Amino acid sequence: MDLSQLTAHELHDRLLKKEVSAAEITAAVFKRIDQVEDKVKSYLTITKESAMAKAQEVDGKIARGEQVGPLAGVPIAIKDNLCTEGIRTTCASKILYNFVPPYTATAVAKLNAADMVMVGKTNMDEFAMGSSTENSGFQLTYNPWDLERVPGGSSGGSAAAVAAGEAILSLGSDTGGSIRQPAAFCGVVGMKPTYGAVSRYGLVAYASSLDQIGPFTKDVTDMALALNVICGYDPMDSTSANIKQPDFTQYLVNDIKGMKIGIPREYMAEGIDPQVKEKIKAAIDKLTELGAHVEETSLPHTDYAMPAYYLIATAEASSNLARYDGVRYGLRVEDAEDVVDMYMRSRSRGFGHEVKRRIMLGTYSLSAGYYDAYYLKALKVRTLIKRDFDRAFEQYDLLLSPTSPSTAFKVGEMVNDPLQMYLQDVCTIPVNLAGIPAISIPCGLVNGLPVGLQLMGKAFDEGTLLRVAYTFEQNTDFGRLRPQL
Ligand code: GLN
Repeated sequence: MDLSQLTAHELHDRLLKKEVSAAEITAAVFKRIDQVEDKVKSYLTITKESAMAKAQEVDGKIARGEQVGPLAGVPIAIKDNLCTEGIRTTCASKILYNFVPPYTATAVAKLNAADMVMVGKTNMDEFAMGSSTENSGFQLTYNPWDLERVPGGSSGGSAAAVAAGEAILSLGSDTGGSIRQPAAFCGVVGMKPTYGAVSRYGLVAYASSLDQIGPFTKDVTDMALALNVICGYDPMDSTSANIKQPDFTQYLVNDIKGMKIGIPREYMAEGIDPQVKEKIKAAIDKLTELGAHVEETSLPHTDYAMPAYYLIATAEASSNLARYDGVRYGLRVEDAEDVVDMYMRSRSRGFGHEVKRRIMLGTYSLSAGYYDAYYLKALKVRTLIKRDFDRAFEQYDLLLSPTSPSTAFKVGEMVNDPLQMYLQDVCTIPVNLAGIPAISIPCGLVNGLPVGLQLMGKAFDEGTLLRVAYTFEQNTDFGRLRPQL
């Protein structure tokens, strides 16, 4: 039995029955990393020593008969834009190549407190800008289903690690699709919770009004367990929602009879690969068979989501990334003539192409004379998109679509066509603009590559998404498919 291939809840059962120890589980994951990491390249930093020490600490607690939580002793990977005290946190950017944070992000601190074992920090698109992880300043990550293809992005390392068995679950961040799209490409479960449900304290900011932390897991049960750990109010994040979080496992119910599901027609339009559409239609048939009422609906402003996103996200990025000046963090050129020269050349050397492109776009749309025409207009469009969802949720319990227009594409296929790359997120971006939760679950393979089904819900109604996802998973085999590496 290869422990690295099990889910967190399966491992927990074995742990409590004393069939395995946390140290054995962790060792199995590191053995798997030794076997496949050369091919997949999920990680930027591996923290084996501290992981083994933590696993032994958990075993000690169990041996002493202390109460441990349901994810105790389970190995987890963390996207490298989440601050970890004493452990390098780079955002896959050369400008932060040597940054060691003095504190830990709240979401990670909660995992530590739940006795989870951090295995390492995962590769990503630089500052989470991208859809393929090819914008990393350090390395490419490869899709475990086909090593010539991308894992998706920007949380590609976190998705690939779980799909390859190099971690049992992982954390990513999602600003416009960066958890859901790589989850779809790698055949795992990925969720972007409601904006404000998970504290962003210690998440390096890309576009603060859109960013949200969420988990990648092998199944929906693990997703509920992970949300139980990371959700909740945090006074350190002023946008954190002060509401009582439910126990998400109560939604792991195999029953969706009478549930109303809307299919926004704009999400099934041209541009979606016909074979992907087939899989989504088959999923719709399955949900209907299981007792849901499914019908077509419309979110009329969908076409404007992409342009609005690329104005708002870049505007916020240009402001957030102003802090990397060679003084406070990371890279500083040594041979500058004066301080202005030092700022300029540190930023020029430290940031990659895509990051520079976005800083320029964002600075432009925020500048006097263009602010009203672009940035302010985009904010108004954002409100219209939010209203589309509000109206739809008066009629439906949730909305359904493909997660991504295609399956994983080849490495290098889109790097010279940023617009084509941006279009990867047509189905995921509106969700971030509206601040609502969405989950991607596996719904089959096309030519051996995973397809993701996206379920979108009302704000703070992650429970309904879990329930439908769980029912779908229990009545199909797609969740059990694993890549042959
Ligand atoms: N691909 C989108 C972008 O590049 C989304 C990225 C994300 O969600 N972090 O902005």
